[in-house]
Amino acid sequence: MLITELKNKETILSLITGKVFIINCHGCKEIRFPEHEAEALQKELQESGNVTGILTTDYICNPDYLKQRFAKHEAEIEAADMILVFSCGVGVQTVAAYFENKRVCAACDTYALPGYQGVTPLEHDCDQCGECYLNITGGICPLTACSKSLVNGQCGGAKNGMCEVDPNMECGWERIYQRLKKVGRLDALKCPVQVRNYATDPDK
Ligand code: SF4
Ligand code: SF4
Repeated sequence: MLITELKNKETILSLITGKVFIINCHGCKEIRFPEHEAEALQKELQESGNVTGILTTDYICNPDYLKQRFAKHEAEIEAADMILVFSCGVGVQTVAAYFENKRVCAACDTYALPGYQGVTPLEHDCDQCGECYLNITGGICPLTACSKSLVNGQCGGAKNGMCEVDPNMECGWERIYQRLKKVGRLDALKCPVQVRNYATDPDK
């Protein structure tokens, strides 16, 4: 269970290119999901005529459920140039891993929630950093996929694609590079250095 906040409207609108399919996850909404703000923004997007479809469901962090839910929306997803996900970082990563060749963007930031957070069948991890980087890292979390949680690129120590800290693990930044290449978004790596706002860090 995680807490999410919408990114600011200008940021979300700047992510949108072409037709968009929207996914809302209400799996953890008993904790915190910005439902009304998300609905208002999505209504605006629909009125612009660029939305191919909306799927509102729960627990998109479960890839098996996700597969079944996508089945009913295949044509709408196919018609979209990108998928905009209103969920925590785990949900966005699960969708990005499912659609390897489609651009997947995060509309929310995930904030730290202290204490026990329940048990879920997760394949991805979110460190709840409060400043989601998934839109510039191809849907792969640099904080959890990189042993050093680097947010500005590779450390330079990887060997044959494997991490210098843990040789049994693929280098997270190598994965990010390959993913961005696949979706034709290598330009994302040319964005100015991201200065992390540690005020949102759960360990501050
Ligand atoms: S960048 Fe990673 S840790 Fe931060 S909110 Fe996104 S998925 Fe979570
Ligand atoms: S080798 Fe890759 S995953 Fe490992 S610490 Fe360096 S950048 Fe991070």
